[in-house]
Amino acid sequence: MGARFSELAERLGADQIATESAIPPRYRLDAFRAHRGSRLPEGGVTPAAVVWPRSTEDVSVVVHFAADAGLSIVPWGGGTGLMGGARPTTDSIVLDMRRMRRVLSIDRASNRATAQAGIVLEALDRRLRKARLTLGHDPWSRPRATLGGAIGTNGIGYAGYLRGTMGDQVLGLESVLADGTILRTRPAVRSTTGLDLRRLFIGTEGTLGIVTAATLRVFPIPEREEIHAFSIRDFPTGLACLVRMYDDGLAPAVMDFEESFPAPSLPWRSDDGPPALYLGFAGSRELVGACWRVAHRRLRAAAARSLPDGDARDYWRTRHDIIYAHDEVSPGVTRADMFLKDVIFDYIHVALPRSRILAYRRSSLAILRRHGVRPIGFGVWTQPELVSLEVLRSVGADRAAARTAVASAVDEIIRRALSLGGSMEYVHGVGVKLAHLMADELGTGLAVARRVKAALDPGGILNSGKLGF
Ligand SMILES: Cc1cc2nc3c(=O)[nH]c(=O)nc-3n(C[C@H](O)[C@H](O)[C@H](O)COP(=O)(O)OP(=O)(O)OC[C@H]3O[C@@H](n4cnc5c(N)ncnc54)[C@H](O)[C@@H]3O)c2cc1C
Repeated sequence: MGARFSELAERLGADQIATESAIPPRYRLDAFRAHRGSRLPEGGVTPAAVVWPRSTEDVSVVVHFAADAGLSIVPWGGGTGLMGGARPTTDSIVLDMRRMRRVLSIDRASNRATAQAGIVLEALDRRLRKARLTLGHDPWSRPRATLGGAIGTNGIGYAGYLRGTMGDQVLGLESVLADGTILRTRPAVRSTTGLDLRRLFIGTEGTLGIVTAATLRVFPIPEREEIHAFSIRDFPTGLACLVRMYDDGLAPAVMDFEESFPAPSLPWRSDDGPPALYLGFAGSRELVGACWRVAHRRLRAAAARSLPDGDARDYWRTRHDIIYAHDEVSPGVTRADMFLKDVIFDYIHVALPRSRILAYRRSSLAILRRHGVRPIGFGVWTQPELVSLEVLRSVGADRAAARTAVASAVDEIIRRALSLGGSMEYVHGVGVKLAHLMADELGTGLAVARRVKAALDPGGILNSGKLGF
């Protein structure tokens, strides 16, 4: 233990802190790894220390210590963030929140629950299910991501249209500020009492405060959930069909519509058949039946073809499997690192006005061609405005050149989305990966955001370098 941390170890307990060679290599990087397009260094660095707080007071102690020692703090949930939001610097303390994982209360009659921020989403959902409730927020990363990380990124899951984003579910929260103050906002379904302080900590990646607990809106387990799979002849036809369904007032519990492109260098099977739609509704039996009647009318008009029920069942059963590829197979090395070692793989998730999606698709494909990057998939998820694009390039002889080519293509595509009236990222946040684009995203708002940051964290100790701060 380095001498400067011994005082902290005494206050917290020696089993709550690691320094120097005792720091596990996994804390060098979150899920923003070497296989992504970027001009940033691939490898990450070891932080000055890792601390595992057990209580809100512990967090406050660490914040005071960091301020006195001239160190910064990087909140860490499951480390599944894809933008480097939890990537440490050498002069930072990583605050791994996962020992703060208690469910503090469940109020079945009010459909609300309070939990500490380090609880893994799946564990929280399991607890809620015992009370015949469900979390609602269901990202691909549910088995590993934490409540605090989901709030920090304002993530969205499979049921995002019906249940809202993680932030939409937060009724109130507890947060530790840069000066150690513990702020508790009043959990309310609505309030018109001025500045909504809760929102300061939603989607701001731990740069304004460390979320230690939250009260959430949760949901009764629906009587019926029914998902079916379809194929639709092309993307524009499917998009038009979906737009009509949403305009009809349908609120799907699942909607995933994607076209695939042939990709010979892909390390898994690529399918370039017609685009597939996974669509589901949840609620009472009558409601689900009525939703399907409306949806089928729209699907018939688009000449959609039903796929076997097994396809939808497999889709749903395996929906979280990909996150296990981010587990370590040896210290600091994940299965994804091995699997993707010969390719640069990236994704772009923009929110666009519906009327601009096809123009964005055309431009993106042209930009990718120009940069020698292949599209793998183009689709919409949870609602027609939320658009995803996955891309790939072989590493070839020059790995740095391949990373830069993908990064340049991604930047250009994002700027195109902005010029079409969109927002550059709707699900994974900004972290360090997209920080250089924050001026394009926010315009003069970036200076305003920086003033808010300076007011709350004048010493810049909370997750500095993220979000363009
Ligand atoms: C394969 C894969 C699939 C994914 N699918 C989805 C998806 O479907 N939907 C989705 O939304 N995301 C998805 N993600 C991204 C990621 O899982 C989410 O962003 C998730 O919410 C991050 O949670 P975490 O606990 O791992 O946070 P981390 O990665 O540890 O942290 C994320 C950010 O939040 C900050 N943070 C962490 N804890 C706190 C806290 N207590 N207080 C304040 N700030 C905090 C961190 O500093 C960092 O900036 C996916 C990631 C992978 C690898």
